[in-house]
Amino acid sequence: MLVKLRHDGHKTGQFSVDLLEQPSAIKVGPDGDEIYLEWNSTVDDSGHLRGCIACGGEVFRERTFPQITGIVVVLAFAGAVAGILGLVTTWPMLIAMGVVLAIDIGILTFSFTRLVCYECDTRYSKLNIAKYHEPWDADRSSQIKRSN
Ligand SMILES: [Zn+2]
Repeated sequence: MLVKLRHDGHKTGQFSVDLLEQPSAIKVGPDGDEIYLEWNSTVDDSGHLRGCIACGGEVFRERTFPQITGIVVVLAFAGAVAGILGLVTTWPMLIAMGVVLAIDIGILTFSFTRLVCYECDTRYSKLNIAKYHEPWDADRSSQIKRSN
């Protein structure tokens, strides 16, 4: 899986790690800073990631979309408005809608689900995600922040 470390909202480094190998420490970044990984109770019996290996914290499921999503929403909205106002004739309208649809499908293809740590914001991608992970939850988040 791919692990992206973050600090204060910025990416501070990334590395790949094998969930089966479970190395106790790993070198990150050009300086070769070593960070220690927490494997105790962070991997479940079926080999899925259960918690954060950087801090041992709780993780949540997050679906990512490519940056282009916002543009598509605007295009779809503009298309709908133009359609309602009757500003365009049928054929260009259909073609434009077809293009938006194609981009939509592209977004669905390129979006993926990752796990994010509530406590240290580390992101985990390129892994099999167990079904029991919940999406981000405001109550759980504030609960965890309070207990720290
Ligand atoms: Zn963490």
